[in-house]
Amino acid sequence: MGDEELLRYSRHILLPELGIEGQEKLLASRVLILGLGGLGSPVALYLASSGVGELTLVDHDTVDLTNLQRQIAHDSAQLGHTKVSSAQSHIHRLNPAVRVHTHAERANAQTLNVWLNDIDLVIDCSDNFATRHLVNRACFERKIPWIFAGAITMDAQISVFDPRDPKSPCFACLFPAELAPEEVNCASLGVLAPLVGVIGSLQALEAIKVLTHIGEPLVGRLLMLEARQMRFSEMRLKRLPSCPVCAQPSMG
Ligand SMILES: [Zn+2]
Repeated sequence: MGDEELLRYSRHILLPELGIEGQEKLLASRVLILGLGGLGSPVALYLASSGVGELTLVDHDTVDLTNLQRQIAHDSAQLGHTKVSSAQSHIHRLNPAVRVHTHAERANAQTLNVWLNDIDLVIDCSDNFATRHLVNRACFERKIPWIFAGAITMDAQISVFDPRDPKSPCFACLFPAELAPEEVNCASLGVLAPLVGVIGSLQALEAIKVLTHIGEPLVGRLLMLEARQMRFSEMRLKRLPSCPVCAQPSMG
């Protein structure tokens, strides 16, 4: 690490749990962010400012006026541009050392299979269950940890799934694919802007913990925020013995 990096990351390096060793781990990390909207914006900006070495950004959409109330990686000058190029230029102004790859297309099983090569962690910032089940399966097969979150109106939730941990449940243990709840999104129900900032920031925080092995990540726990009364609550999650994704075939 050079002098400029020692200064840029000095407030990280001061943390006993992180230090120079942890910062070196971040600089060598490669993270894929799926969705550059309300959650993906703070995730991308905090991981870039924190010095995560390589970010792969995936989003098929372009920046629309209705996005700017909460999607803080984008601004009025980027209207009509792809969200990945808008986020990339913001990241470059924030921390030019971060290497950014962009894919302005939808994720499917094939594209995900290619994009997950050499990825250490995936952060799901999409807004639909089909994508999350896709990410869950791909990450389970490759033993890549991933961070789920969702936010709508004034409610949000977040959890970490780590297929390297034999006790970790997976997303399909929690939300069986055949019981997918009716899709609701911010376009139909609305969302309070700072709520996605709070939950996206928690995703970035958990990402840094997983990448640097600090503390205990939200594995096996679903953290929920009810913002009207400002109450956090937590639900313990268990592996589903009959889970179609993570149950061991030998255990029948
Ligand atoms: Zn499972």
